[in-house]
Amino acid sequence: MSNPPSRVNLLDFDPAALETFFVNMGEKPFRARQVLPWLHQRFCDDIAQMSDLSKVVRDKLSAVAEIRAPRVLRDTTASDGTRKWLFAVDNASGNETGAENAVEAVFLPEDDRGTLCISTQAGCMMDCAFCSTGQQGFNRNLSVGEIVGQLWVANRTLLAEGMNAPWIDAGRPPITNVVLMGMGEPLANFKNVVAALQLFLSDHAYGLSRRRVTLSTSGVVPMIDALRDACPVALAVSLHAPDDALRDRLMPVNRRHPLTELMAACRRYLDKAPRDFITFEYLLLADVNDAPTHAAALIDLVRDVPCKFNLIPFNPFPGAPYRAPTRDRVLAFQRVLMNAGIVTTIRKTRGDDIDAACGQLAGQVHNRVRYRMSDVPRRAEPREAATLSPVPREHHRFSCYPHTKHSVT
Ligand code: SAH
Ligand code: SF4
Repeated sequence: MSNPPSRVNLLDFDPAALETFFVNMGEKPFRARQVLPWLHQRFCDDIAQMSDLSKVVRDKLSAVAEIRAPRVLRDTTASDGTRKWLFAVDNASGNETGAENAVEAVFLPEDDRGTLCISTQAGCMMDCAFCSTGQQGFNRNLSVGEIVGQLWVANRTLLAEGMNAPWIDAGRPPITNVVLMGMGEPLANFKNVVAALQLFLSDHAYGLSRRRVTLSTSGVVPMIDALRDACPVALAVSLHAPDDALRDRLMPVNRRHPLTELMAACRRYLDKAPRDFITFEYLLLADVNDAPTHAAALIDLVRDVPCKFNLIPFNPFPGAPYRAPTRDRVLAFQRVLMNAGIVTTIRKTRGDDIDAACGQLAGQVHNRVRYRMSDVPRRAEPREAATLSPVPREHHRFSCYPHTKHSVT
């Protein structure tokens, strides 16, 4: 069992929180604007090196704060340049179980950009039937420092290695786009995710534009509205079924927030979104949701929502009760949507050779408790959320779906 660290982690502060922290220390708020570039542009891990702070201020800061990025457990690169980091996420917060949790981030270099796919939770409680993360349980939300730390480590490592690519301006961090599509449901860790987003967007930190940051959600409707009000970045919604009966079965979140509600939330989001469309991700499961009739039903469903589709052929994992569709079936599905004038891309698999190991090394979740979203009753039999009880589970190894190219930009 590890004791919680006594000094605060500077990576845990969004810009506003860092100002408050300095004020509480008896310093001026502008210290935050001095320190943020050291942390998130120069990737400094030593307060003593912050040379534009006086020695007195540095000493005062070092007495109460430090810079703790998540520890890298494994770093793997595929032949196509896709790179995956496995991070330990226990050291920063102290985990009561003593077991080590780990999450992953994946770097996807492309011709015109470098994208990092990051995780927001150790595991996930949404229980989607096709997702290894969901099937294997939930441990806890990641802290702000653990979410931002994935970008911090990836940028710092690539910069130190002198990574060269057409999209990299000299001396600038190589990661130009961030997608919240790794482990976990970002909107179920709302506070920490929004704080991380503030850092991604801040000119004093990563300075990314809102359209270069994409959050993917399974459809937690009230939190889609909250995100629109707090920090509207580009939104991707995992749809995966054109009707409530099928979506209830595949994604238990639909029992609480059915499709009409979800479509309405998407329309409301577009009032403030940095793009004028929602990206619908649609996972294709052979003989479950991949028929041309499903595609036709989708056209009806999204009639009033400006959108694009990204089709994801199922990535199998051990014990999964689904199969990937054939290429012809995927193309036929795409054709139906395209013929209706909906831009539809097919997500290419990346990093195949490290995906082979993905099922084994991609993350570890040692369950503390498991809240099962699938314990939520169907709408016909309403029950108070408060009656949900945590289901304790044995510790076990965790595996995640193989990472694929995220063509959402
Ligand atoms: N929790 C969020 C973001 C993480 S999952 C969400 O669900 O949107 C990122 C994407 O991977 C989602 O669209 C999800 O449905 C998809 N996914 C999950 N399991 C998969 C699998 N076995 N094969 C392919 N994609 C999968
Ligand atoms: Fe969680 Fe997303 Fe997996 Fe569903 S698909 S269980 S929301 S990570």
